[in-house]
Amino acid sequence: MSEPISRRRFLELGAATAAVPHFHVPVRRRAPAPAAVSSANGLRSVQIAVEKMRAGVSPVEAAVLGIEPVENDPEDDSVGYGGLPNEDGVVELDACVMDGPTGLAGAVAALRNVKNPAKVALLVLRRTDHVLLVGEGALRFARAHGIPEENLLTEASRRKWLAWKESRSKTDDWLEPGENEPAGARPKVERKTGTIHVGCVNEAGDLGGATSTSGLAFKIPGRVGDSPLIGCGNYVDNEVGVAGSTGRGEAVILTNGAAYVVHAMRQGRSPTDACLDACRRVVACTRIPRLLDGKGRPDFQVNFYAVNKAGVTGAAALFPSRHARMTANGPELVDSAALFER
Ligand code: ASP
Repeated sequence: MSEPISRRRFLELGAATAAVPHFHVPVRRRAPAPAAVSSANGLRSVQIAVEKMRAGVSPVEAAVLGIEPVENDPEDDSVGYGGLPNEDGVVELDACVMDGPTGLAGAVAALRNVKNPAKVALLVLRRTDHVLLVGEGALRFARAHGIPEENLLTEASRRKWLAWKESRSKTDDWLEPGENEPAGARPKVERKTGTIHVGCVNEAGDLGGATSTSGLAFKIPGRVGDSPLIGCGNYVDNEVGVAGSTGRGEAVILTNGAAYVVHAMRQGRSPTDACLDACRRVVACTRIPRLLDGKGRPDFQVNFYAVNKAGVTGAAALFPSRHARMTANGPELVDSAALFER
């Protein structure tokens, strides 16, 4: 393990590179302990992911294995089995994975009847020349690889869907003419969201990340959120770090959230500051009145999570929130930085 370079040497190198902007300075770092960061529903996921990396599993696969028990958990109605369905009462899952060392990614969207979409996304990465498969094509691909199919709608989720369907009108995603315009308005509706993202770094400093979700509850069938979109719900740059997101997917797509966080880290921002930058970007890009509260702030939540190549984790959200991490201190559930108070 090499020692970090001295401050004086660093400044000398900095002066040298100022004159030659494209010269890459090979700053040697201390090797990180394996670390993982996750959304708050991933406390066991980060533990599993780090254990797997210690056993030699790659970061991207460790992230997928960490996510699997959450996808299988019927009590988590935002991910995998038991996820809340679309407006037709059908569960449609989204997931993506990205591998730092190869720079490859795999994703599935609007996948039905398969409870572990992150595993199928990993198969897309490993066994196709594509990045994203959707709907029927994704299901047929999973079937070809022998992935079992099952009904993902639990009795509890079916009851919640039925209650929504019986009372819907202003609570669905179909807008009337004018509602998306500057003078438009809409009654505020609480909609259940939730997702799991796990970002991992191993001892060699290699990175991987995965994100899995059932998406927005009662969405229009075929709606795809940020979670399976590379650069939105998950992004990895093996020289820099991993980032992922949860919350209102539309806002994350419109800002390319995870890529924004990673690019900010590339500019030297810490993981938490980079996540805060992305939150500010979401605020700046949210202009439609029906998405703003009485104080002109977004009336929805977005969370970003990040871990850099040195194993430093961080997270931030628009409003107070928590995240899970596993570092040398062990597994912890901790507060994220927040832009606004509730
Ligand atoms: N980001 C997910 C989506 O929009 C939902 C969530 O994380 O709550 O599909």
